[in-house]
Amino acid sequence: MSDAKKIPTADVSVDPTEFYRKREKIYQRNPSGFFQTIRVVTIWITLGVYFLGPWLTWNGRQAVLFDLPDRKFYIFGMTFWPQDFILLSWLLIIAAFALFFFTVLAGRLWCGYTCPQTVWTTFFMWIEHVSEGDRHQRIRLDAQPWSIKKLIKKGTKHFFWILLSLFTAFTFVGYFAPVKELLINTAYLNLDPWAIFWLSFFTIATYMNAGWLREQVCIYMCPYARFQGVMFDKDTLQVTYDTKRGDPRGKRKKTADPKQENLGDCIDCKLCVQVCPTGIDIRNGLQYECIGCAACIDACDSIMDQMGYDRGLVRYSNEHAIQGEKSSILRPRLVAYAIILCIMILGFIGTLFSRVPLEVDIIRDRNQLYRTNIDGDIENVYTLKIINKTQELHSYRISLAGLEGLTLDTPETITALPGELVVVPTTAHISPGALKRPSTKIQFHVEALDDPSLQTEEESRFLGPIPKR
Ligand code: SF4
Ligand code: SF4
Repeated sequence: MSDAKKIPTADVSVDPTEFYRKREKIYQRNPSGFFQTIRVVTIWITLGVYFLGPWLTWNGRQAVLFDLPDRKFYIFGMTFWPQDFILLSWLLIIAAFALFFFTVLAGRLWCGYTCPQTVWTTFFMWIEHVSEGDRHQRIRLDAQPWSIKKLIKKGTKHFFWILLSLFTAFTFVGYFAPVKELLINTAYLNLDPWAIFWLSFFTIATYMNAGWLREQVCIYMCPYARFQGVMFDKDTLQVTYDTKRGDPRGKRKKTADPKQENLGDCIDCKLCVQVCPTGIDIRNGLQYECIGCAACIDACDSIMDQMGYDRGLVRYSNEHAIQGEKSSILRPRLVAYAIILCIMILGFIGTLFSRVPLEVDIIRDRNQLYRTNIDGDIENVYTLKIINKTQELHSYRISLAGLEGLTLDTPETITALPGELVVVPTTAHISPGALKRPSTKIQFHVEALDDPSLQTEEESRFLGPIPKR
């Protein structure tokens, strides 16, 4: 084949050693400013909810408990069974739509402000900052040979990291096992092997992820970082460096006029790089390593204030605005996500609060279509499964409808403890003369005696011989 017929190709090979490059440790400078304050508040709220969650009580029992061995989830007075799995699926779909909505609106808000990896890493970094000092002190400490002073500083940091990891793991396990029992068993070193396994697993996972791996989790492990780009559009707010305004970059005296020196507003101080938890330079444009924490906005704004320039050289902006084109926050895609999200949330709340915490299952005996009892009546056998999904004891009355003359042979009332499944074998019988067809739809009605709102109906069939005409 001649060269003229070849499809032109480009060399896209990469240096394989790039993947094995030694990780450069990031010494993050402590950020401060408007967005950092929002982050700190968000982080404290997130941590507060997480750590206090298992200790809350509701009607004398742990308010949030996912009891896996018994397959029951207790959430603020409500008991959910595996049959309620649809609600969990619904919740996950709502979470996915919320993520789409916020990502289309303002990029990686989740990553920057509320992701557990960000929250715990920020807490771990704060411990590091308190134990070893600020960025310059940490760089100096790492460069120093080992000494008692260095050992104490490093030891203090790791001691508190391990303590926080243990506390995190304990709290996590406390959502799945009664937390007070867990505390007593931990204090008396009387934990079962599974508790020991999960406590160890989550302690190590927290310590490694937030203490050592940090930004590596966001850059190399998190799938969201990879696919978030497809959700962005040209109106999505992102942390952006205004190249037109900032370049050419260069150092200058505070009193100098940048225009006369042919410079933009960026004084090339690199403070935005030093505060970045993933160690990138936002001036190089949008990068998948950027978690949208806005620390660089705060850093650059503080420099702009010092220089007497307008704030916002690094700011939340979008591609359209940066290119001087018309941008719009309210666009069809975002509005569609918002509408779907609102409908789903309202539907979920409606379903949750209209849910009757009583479930009845009727199983007809399939071995025998019907039988004739000693009184000559036609009889069908059923097994009723009554699940009391409340957290109180209830007595229920069972009645039948749909076939006149049909009588049920159950005790007057059935009592079920909180969260109990009661199996009631029963028979229904009728005189053969009252039967009009061989198969009749009937309804089992179950109602709590002390609470008329607790009632439900299940359908079944009553079978008998073909009535004689
Ligand atoms: S570039 Fe800015 S917003 Fe992105 S991760 Fe770094 S500091 Fe945070
Ligand atoms: S903080 Fe602002 S002025 Fe300093 S290097 Fe970054 S963009 Fe330039």
